[in-house]
Order: sequence, then structure tokens, then C-alpha cells
Amino acid sequence: LAKQKEELINLHKDCFEYFQEQLYLRKNIEAAKYIIKRRITKETAKRFGLGYCPEKNDLYERLSQKYPKEIIDLSGIFLERNGKNYCRFAGRLIFPIFDTMNRVIAFGGRIITDTSAPKYMNSPDTLIFSKSRILYGLNIAKQSKENEFIVVEGYMDVIALHQEGIDNVVGVLGTALTQDHSFLLRRYKNEVVLCLDSDEAGKRAAIRSADILYQNGLMVRVMELEGAKDPDEYIKKFGKDAFLLKKQNSMFVIDYKIKELKNQYDLSKSDQKFRFVREYFEKILTPISNEVERQEYIKKLSDLTGIDENVIAREFSKKAQK
Ligand code: ATP
Ligand code: MN
Ligand code: MN
Ligand code: MN
Repeated sequence: LAKQKEELINLHKDCFEYFQEQLYLRKNIEAAKYIIKRRITKETAKRFGLGYCPEKNDLYERLSQKYPKEIIDLSGIFLERNGKNYCRFAGRLIFPIFDTMNRVIAFGGRIITDTSAPKYMNSPDTLIFSKSRILYGLNIAKQSKENEFIVVEGYMDVIALHQEGIDNVVGVLGTALTQDHSFLLRRYKNEVVLCLDSDEAGKRAAIRSADILYQNGLMVRVMELEGAKDPDEYIKKFGKDAFLLKKQNSMFVIDYKIKELKNQYDLSKSDQKFRFVREYFEKILTPISNEVERQEYIKKLSDLTGIDENVIAREFSKKAQK
């Protein structure tokens, strides 16, 4: 197994070098053009090791000369169709995924033309890669002098913020943040600012992710981006200073959850108010283990609803005992 892992690491390194080379070839100019279109500089492309996998390529044959078929199959880089092996990243811009030791252990690929193919394609989990245990950009962000991490959704978000000099960004590559991700982050810093996409999926993921991070002992704040769908678009539209100001104004996770919950109810109507209280008990008060913090949020519920603080406290402890 150790031998197989080592071979997989070597194979990824070879692929990484191949992809990177291809990006700068004249015949693959459309990939270089795409990078320019996304306003990624040459320097940034180098820093993140971006590459390109040509539609027509001999990658499988090249690797076959050096690695046994078994290892090539285990890499997950190829798909078999009609007895032929196709690179799953063919025609895509390549984002190498590094571990914290700076070894390439997987790839992500983005289509660069309008097709019906899925926008992104990632390596499957392998002996050396587990999506739920890797954060994109952590190899770089772990060195940052900031005392917090900014967690974003995508490759482009990490890269765009980094290009503006914000170097403490990591990407979850999809929406599900796991407990393992929390452990990983906590190894380096104890504060996290979540800056996920502003669509409904992103908002739901923010609450779920914030809960996981908070329950694993991280101080969590949530950032909201108005006027842009994600951090990449935001910083390109409004600039670095606007982004940092938004970050400064980000809300502590519990306050963010209250704001989102409040939006679902009309507190001037009794029945809705009572349902709000019930949800507040369950989603806000119950997960708080610290007495001081809980007291604070009982007071807040009282302010929001006009219900006496003591009544809330008594009712909550009654419920908690059940
Ligand atoms: P872009 O700006 O290039 O259009 P994005 O990063 O904003 O892309 P999202 O749709 O917000 O794209 O997805 C966020 C991240 O989730 C992507 O960077 C990618 O890592 C992952 N992702 C998105 N779609 C897929 C998919 N079909 N398969 C696997 N991963 C995906
Ligand atoms: Mn998204
Ligand atoms: Mn985007
Ligand atoms: Mn996005």
C-alpha cells in the first residue's frame, strides 16, 4: 500500500508537469485565453500550478511506459469508454490540488467552452486523496500571518482573492464542509470567516458549515456578499478594500443564524411568533453549551419578541430537562 501511494504521488507529479506544459503551448491558446478572460495573471497561474489537458492527448500512453496499468487505474484520472481510456479532464483547465506537504494528490478541471458537460470535474477519492479531508489552497494559506482562515466554495474564489493579496483563503470544493475539515483548520488557526456563494445553496451551506466549525471549537463568522454571486465575482466588481470591509462587518455565527431565522417569520403575528420561539430554542439556544453565551441569547430573544426574559429562561430549562 505504501508503495502504491508513492507511485500514485509520482504519477500525479508527472501529470501535473504535463498539464502545466500544455497550458503554455501555442496550439492550446484557447486555454491561455480563458485564463486571461478570468483575469488570472501569469504569475498567479504559476503560483497555483494551473494547467491544461488537451482534448486530444497521449497522456495515458505516456504514463503506460512508466507505471503499471493498475496504478494508472487507481489514480482515477482516466475513464474507460469502449475499451479506450480517456482522461476525465480532457479539454479542461486544470487546478492541481496539493496536500499540506505541497504534493499534488488530485486535480480539478473546468470546461473552457460552452458545452453541456458538467462545469467542473474533480478526481474521485483515491488512496492518496479524500475530498472531505482536503482544503484547496491550504498549502499556501497555512503560511499566512493572519489569525483566521477565509473559507470559500471554489477554486476561482481562492485564486482571485489570493491574487489580490489575501493569502489566508481555502476552498471546500463544493458545499459540504466536514468535521475533518474543521480539525484540519484548527491545526493552524482558531478563527474562520465563512464566505460562501450568495445563492440559496450557499446560504444553507453556510449555516450547516458554521455549526460544524463552531461545534469543533472554532470561532466562526459569516460574511455576506451583496451584488455578486461569489467572492471571485465580488472582488473583481468591487475591489479588495470593499471585500475587506465586508469581512470586518461579518457576523458572529449565532447572530447570523438569528438573522436568517427571523427572516422566515412575521413576529407581529402571534402564531408565527410562537413558532419562531420554538425554532429559536431548538436551533439557537440548544446548541450553545456556554452558560454566559446562552444567557446573552435568551436576552436577545426577549428583545425580539417582547416575552419576559425569566419566562423564556424557565421554559427553556424545562424543555432542556426533557
Ligand atoms: P466558476 O466561477 O468557474 O464558474 P465557481 O467556483 O463559481 O465556478 P460553483 O458552481 O460556485 O462554481 O462551484 C463551486 C465549487 O464547487 C467549484 O469550484 C468546484 O470545486 C465545485 N463544483 C462545482 N460544480 C461541480 C461539479 N459538477 N462536480 C464537482 N465539483 C463541482
Ligand atoms: Mn456555488
Ligand atoms: Mn465563480
Ligand atoms: Mn461560485
